[in-house]
Amino acid sequence: MADFKKKYDVVVAGAGVSGVAAALAAARMGQSVALLEKQAVTGGLATSGMIIIYLPLCDGMGRQVTFGIAEELMRASLRFSPCRLGKDWGGPGGPDARTRFAAPFSPAGMIVAFEKLLADAGVDLWYDTLVCKTVTSRGAVAAVEVENVSGRGRIEGKRFIDATGDSGVVRRAGGSVTTGHNTNGSTLWFMAGNPDPGRRYPLGANVNIQTIPMYKDVDLDEKYTLSGKGVSEFIRHGHGVVFDHYSQLYAKDPEDRFRYYPLYLPCMPLFRKIAHVNGRAAVNADQFNTRREDSVGLVGDWRAAGKIWETPYGSLLPENLEGILAAGRNICSCGDAWEAFRVIPAAAMTGEVAGTAAALSIAKNCRPSKLSLKQLRSALAAKKFVFHIDDLPPVSAGAASDVFTEE
Ligand SMILES: Cc1cc2nc3c(=O)[nH]c(=O)nc-3n(C[C@H](O)[C@H](O)[C@H](O)COP(=O)(O)OP(=O)(O)OC[C@H]3O[C@@H](n4cnc5c(N)ncnc54)[C@H](O)[C@@H]3O)c2cc1C
Repeated sequence: MADFKKKYDVVVAGAGVSGVAAALAAARMGQSVALLEKQAVTGGLATSGMIIIYLPLCDGMGRQVTFGIAEELMRASLRFSPCRLGKDWGGPGGPDARTRFAAPFSPAGMIVAFEKLLADAGVDLWYDTLVCKTVTSRGAVAAVEVENVSGRGRIEGKRFIDATGDSGVVRRAGGSVTTGHNTNGSTLWFMAGNPDPGRRYPLGANVNIQTIPMYKDVDLDEKYTLSGKGVSEFIRHGHGVVFDHYSQLYAKDPEDRFRYYPLYLPCMPLFRKIAHVNGRAAVNADQFNTRREDSVGLVGDWRAAGKIWETPYGSLLPENLEGILAAGRNICSCGDAWEAFRVIPAAAMTGEVAGTAAALSIAKNCRPSKLSLKQLRSALAAKKFVFHIDDLPPVSAGAASDVFTEE
């Protein structure tokens, strides 16, 4: 089959939440944008991984901290979901710990909503297209090679965004990354038939997202996450867990087959942390509630009320590599900070920053690393972004603490 060649202003690799946000931000600023996705759906782990909980955009103290496309994507995902948004921002009086501004969503609802937003913005979405090589020229990313049913092609761009969830574009350019540890061996999230009332993540009358622990005391590091064989072993193990779970259930009562059954399994390996870029700046574990002079946005910490992280622009810029920005769980957030930044709201926020910075750096004819922070912030402020904790409204008296749990 013939090789092909295409050229865009901005090329985004990976159509997970961060890639979708990045592509929307750049396209809405007038750039031609390619969004390259190896699967046949948008949403990445959020949809293919059956994750379904859009974690809070607030600080659990009654204040919204993350704005812009992060909120737009949450509301869009709920349009086709049988779920309601929490009524408040985690202030006093909520009925339980899930009243923070967060919501479960239907994965299918998220996929179709994202596609419509991308189409409206004029993003060229390439499905079933694997980015398999990064081409650099004089220290900057100049093109990516992709493989799809048309054969192998080259996609050139003025700016690139690595939203692959595993820093795959940066790694393929030889850029430096830090790999993650997934302690306690992760949990399998999958879609199940289950008619019981009071289920934790109900998606309809008989449908639920169910979770089962996968391993005990196993630390999944790059021997699993960045090894083709390790990934296959991890996925097959998860399927075996489902097989055993239902076999044991039906051994007690064969009629349970008509009430409890698996409906759909994740199509992406459920690794929380794979590899983040080593950036020109980092968010370190102790840097919550800390002022970062080059902050470009805020995220709350889904695990603890009152914990807020400022995001330095340099954490989106891979060290020693030009022409590319990181987004989502690829940004340089280290140790415990990675736990706060690897989730959906932070993915959307950092994606929007990366897309905005890519577009602005083209318009200003400068490298992303040389972009004026003032100009970037002014573009983000127009989307209601807040950069420093001190600029949030004060916490109202009596605001309640609120903690989210994830299995
Ligand atoms: C078990 C588990 C539970 C979780 N629970 C929650 C939760 O309750 N709430 C929450 O907010 N977050 C949760 N998360 C985390 C969250 O879902 C993700 O970390 C977040 O969605 C990451 O988004 P992303 O865009 O950075 O990356 P990803 O979702 O990983 O998206 C990357 C995309 O890039 C594509 N891609 C990768 N490589 C290539 C390539 N070479 N070529 C082309 N395309 C490529 C992938 O197919 C994918 O679509 C959970 C994660 C796990 C594993």
